[in-house]
Amino acid sequence: MEIIDQLTTIVGSHGVLVGGNLVAYEQDWRSRAKGKCLAVVFPHSTQEVVDLVNFCTYHHIAIIPQGGNTGLVLGALPDSTGQQLILNLQKLKAFRGFSKTDLSIIVEGGCTLKEVQDFVACHDLLFPLSLASEDSCTIGGNLATNAGGVQVMRYGNARELCLGLEVVTPEGKVLNNLNSLKKDNTGYDWKNIYIGSEGTLGIITAAKLKLFTQPSATLCTWMVTHRFSSLITLLQQSQMYWGNRVVAFEVMNRTAIELVKKHFPHLNIPFQGNHDWHLLCEIHSYESYQQTQEQLQTFCLPLLENKEIDDIAISNSYQQTTQLWKIRESIPIAQSKQGLNIKNDIGLPLENMESFLLNMEALLNKQLPGIGYVVFGHLGDGNLHYNLQCPQSMSPQDFLSQYEKSLTTLVSDKVFELQGTFSAEHGIGMLKKTDLVRYKDSVVFDWMVKMKKHLDPQNLFNPGKMVDIF
Ligand SMILES: Cc1cc2nc3c(=O)[nH]c(=O)nc-3n(C[C@H](O)[C@H](O)[C@H](O)COP(=O)(O)OP(=O)(O)OC[C@H]3O[C@@H](n4cnc5c(N)ncnc54)[C@H](O)[C@@H]3O)c2cc1C
Repeated sequence: MEIIDQLTTIVGSHGVLVGGNLVAYEQDWRSRAKGKCLAVVFPHSTQEVVDLVNFCTYHHIAIIPQGGNTGLVLGALPDSTGQQLILNLQKLKAFRGFSKTDLSIIVEGGCTLKEVQDFVACHDLLFPLSLASEDSCTIGGNLATNAGGVQVMRYGNARELCLGLEVVTPEGKVLNNLNSLKKDNTGYDWKNIYIGSEGTLGIITAAKLKLFTQPSATLCTWMVTHRFSSLITLLQQSQMYWGNRVVAFEVMNRTAIELVKKHFPHLNIPFQGNHDWHLLCEIHSYESYQQTQEQLQTFCLPLLENKEIDDIAISNSYQQTTQLWKIRESIPIAQSKQGLNIKNDIGLPLENMESFLLNMEALLNKQLPGIGYVVFGHLGDGNLHYNLQCPQSMSPQDFLSQYEKSLTTLVSDKVFELQGTFSAEHGIGMLKKTDLVRYKDSVVFDWMVKMKKHLDPQNLFNPGKMVDIF
């Protein structure tokens, strides 16, 4: 029997896509790269995933696990040979269990993040992972990339929000700790090896996730300032005053806001002046809305009086809060509408952040006068998206082909020098593989290679991503 016919016997004729327009699966979200696959298969159950893995192992076919294909480091794409199989989890999306007592939910890997958020919200609970791609990205993808997002400060990233996993291994076995307990000291923590493994060690088919009670009040402030140093001071003051009620502390530079104004003119951005830095801060409180609002005013007024910041707006309603978030979440989309750019997803100790920004701008301006900086992200986590925009005189294609390698190295070298990381939340994929070799501790890197060789000796699970073993 032909390979495709045999795949059809495993997942049914509606579970296999072959030929035709497969661009949604073969091309990345930014339309930067395109591969060519043998077929896309959509398993409906863990057993079908096991059967597919056994089938692929027998025929020596490489498997590319894929969720919503929203990753930003080319981790879910096949190579160009037409021989690799995309195993897309989007049809594996049952809710297997939900406990208000345990504050947990068990979902299959293909559920979108938004589906999980909406389901638990109907029960007055909160699943706090929150990304601009949440309508499309999947829980399996979130865990495979250990996604971060805008509420990490208070609730942690995907790793902290996961209580247990079900994984299909390269041997075709099912690892399962979905019935995990809060306390269970019985050996190696394999769950945390799989979180962040980007599909290179197995396929996440289900997860038990941690839930929280909904806060009684959610409030946002939008502040503007001309000095980056004020943002760092403000972060410290916010943490002192609010403790772990500060959920998000998101900064945006002037260029990022200008791009949103240009591509989303209907969005109402607070303060029309040319402010160098904008800040969106969210507070979750278990006191009443009115009490929280009064506390927020008490906190904010002295900041204005002491000229620590230039202006402040406080949201008055759920609608206003949503609109403020819309501005922040539109930045990556506004940037992609503007054209290709060089993305850096850096993490730095807060005390080194300002010196990085100052030094980097001087270094980059010397290399390429006229270069633009779109800087935004999760300052509360020490994580900035430090994206470089081509000078007006140059096409984005020329910018990338001539400068991507050298400018990325310049940025990553400086980040390394300042004790930071070149990939704070997007992972490694194909795009950051050489950086991993260059910057990762060599002992740890060697250990990663050994682990990949041991768990996937045939190199059939997402080959060419994260670490090369041959
Ligand atoms: C507009 C936008 C905003 C974003 N914002 C953020 C952000 O704030 N924080 C952040 O961390 N990321 C962000 N991202 C990146 C991306 O959304 C996340 O990495 C997300 O977790 C990927 O989920 P996905 O289902 O789309 O995975 P995919 O893109 O399909 O896959 C990503 C990786 O995970 C592997 N994988 C996917 N599913 C599985 C599975 N079930 N089992 C094993 N491996 C699997 C793939 O092989 C690949 O290596 C953003 C992306 C966009 C487009």
